[in-house]
Amino acid sequence: MGKPTGDDAADTVITADFVLTMNGDNDIFSPGAVAIKGDSLVAVGEQQEILATYVERAVGRAPTVHRCGNAVVMPGLINTHGHAPMTLLRALADDLRLDVWLMGYMMPVEGEFVTPRFCWLGTQLAAAEMIRSGTTTFADMYYFEEAIADAAVHAGMRAICAQSVMKFPTPDAASFEEGLARSRDYITRWRDHALIVPAIAPHAPYTVTPELLEAAVQMALEFDVPLHIHIAETAQEVEEHRKAHDMPPVPWLKKLGVFETKTTAAHCVHLDEGEMRTLEHYGAGIAHCPSSNMKLASGVAPIARMLEVGLNVGIGTDGAGSNNDLDMIEEARLASLLGKVSTLDPTALPARTVIDMATRMGAKALHLDAITGSLEPGKRADLISVSLDDVRHTPYFERDAGALYSRLLYAAHQEDVQDVMVNGVWLMRQRELLTIDVEALRSEANQLAGRIDRFLMQREESVLSKLVAIGGVAQERSFEIQVKIQDIDLIRLEEQLRATDEILFVGGSKRHQYDTYFIFDDPWGSRLRYREDEVYDLVSGEVSDVIYRLTLTTMAKEREFDNAILLSRSRFDAQATRSLRFYREYFAPEKSVEVHKFRRRFHIRYGGTDFAVNFDQILKPEGGGTFLEIKSRTWSRQDAERKAALISDLLRLLEVPESALVKAEYPDLAA
Ligand SMILES: [Zn+2]
Repeated sequence: MGKPTGDDAADTVITADFVLTMNGDNDIFSPGAVAIKGDSLVAVGEQQEILATYVERAVGRAPTVHRCGNAVVMPGLINTHGHAPMTLLRALADDLRLDVWLMGYMMPVEGEFVTPRFCWLGTQLAAAEMIRSGTTTFADMYYFEEAIADAAVHAGMRAICAQSVMKFPTPDAASFEEGLARSRDYITRWRDHALIVPAIAPHAPYTVTPELLEAAVQMALEFDVPLHIHIAETAQEVEEHRKAHDMPPVPWLKKLGVFETKTTAAHCVHLDEGEMRTLEHYGAGIAHCPSSNMKLASGVAPIARMLEVGLNVGIGTDGAGSNNDLDMIEEARLASLLGKVSTLDPTALPARTVIDMATRMGAKALHLDAITGSLEPGKRADLISVSLDDVRHTPYFERDAGALYSRLLYAAHQEDVQDVMVNGVWLMRQRELLTIDVEALRSEANQLAGRIDRFLMQREESVLSKLVAIGGVAQERSFEIQVKIQDIDLIRLEEQLRATDEILFVGGSKRHQYDTYFIFDDPWGSRLRYREDEVYDLVSGEVSDVIYRLTLTTMAKEREFDNAILLSRSRFDAQATRSLRFYREYFAPEKSVEVHKFRRRFHIRYGGTDFAVNFDQILKPEGGGTFLEIKSRTWSRQDAERKAALISDLLRLLEVPESALVKAEYPDLAA
């Protein structure tokens, strides 16, 4: 610390048994003190010297002295990654896989409920929780980011608020062009704010396009603002990226210029050595989110290796939807423990390193270290006091001053945080929040939860509404007329079909069909079929196309028309854009049945009407037999009757005995 002069007056002096600076030399002053003027620290050092200079020899008005006693005054914690408004979605859907959680629950609810007010309210709640657990700065990525920035300012917190942009419609932008326009407008209006750094957040490599990324990079460079992005959170995402682009995410992002910006990359669970070196070369910061990675079973980020490579790694809680709290003290502890157990090395991620990650290195990872992250003269007064009064901090060894890092990391709880100051302003004193009315927030949040509950309960009412909720289906209903004939001589029947003059063959195909039926015990008798259809080229015999389809049918109403069975039912079709595993976990059916078959399909015209005639050989379940299916689709009752009559004629022409007709789709699906 420099020698104080007459000009070095202070407004506030804070004393404590320990002042942990996290400066370049890792100085600890015991007893120590800091002197603050306006928004910044003017001195940090030995208590006696600071008191003598700034209090006893004060010129003019003496500063207010806050005595923290048996406590550590240290830099406020830096939460390097999160989605603050998601406090409002806490515990809405847990213990699910990332895609089911995100696409099945978070996104549909967000699409319905996320407004500027939602973001403001959720951020205020998040701020209350973060302040109470010692966080002074947080990095955010969400929608309506200006509402988040505004809520952070009302709470008095420092924040990097990054406006999300994605390739598909979001709650605050119908298209990515609109998202970019919103980002530009927001960044323009929030630049040079004392507490807020506006930023842009192309959400993740798999939710953006190259054009969108390039535009986001341009904007970050034009305004000199940070760029926040999720990278390599799950192995599946990286695998799919490699398949689509022939390289892992980091080199792909590098090619698009992303790392030319002040980048912070969240998660980075599945990086290879080369990717780490690239990120280090460009000075990108990493936001390590151990709770989220563990809870969503995303994997373990190679943090010890990243630190060896020289990367700046901060710690983040991620959103309350995937954590579920925003407690940075717990997060830091988990970062250390996970680092040790995953490398089977107890010396990995030692206490001092991890506290550095939660403070100064975290600030570096956010490109904010010029103003926060350590207690040094000239930096902003962003600090907390952590009481050592609780019995969990007993006893105290004096031999090694560095033991203070372990005492904090391995034993401190968020309740030990007594006071929080950001930018020279107290946000909490003696655990009392000074800027936020928690009771008012709580009541509004619970009212909103009631509305979200009703929305989800309605959606859960039927398989169809759940399907619609994930954008899985066009809401067009059709009816199907079909007849099925079991275990007959297919060769004879085909010959017969071809020999009948009134029947015209108009096309055909051969295919292997792998069907999984989800069977629901609901009032509609819903069945959801996931079909992988391998279509063979009739000439070469090779697979020429693979089609993934989802078909929902509800309650078959059977009516007899002469000797045909009319199976008329509602049917909704859609392309299956997600995996079978996703649908299984999202719909959680009572039962599922697999049916594999080889199908020869003919398109025939009879009586001026098109029918599909399928010759099916059931391969699974074994011994499933052979079937002939004649079917047609229709949209009206009258047409159904007409087609049913034609099917009856066809059956007579083919001399199919009534005993061969079956009602069930396939034996295993009956009842
Ligand atoms: Zn995230």
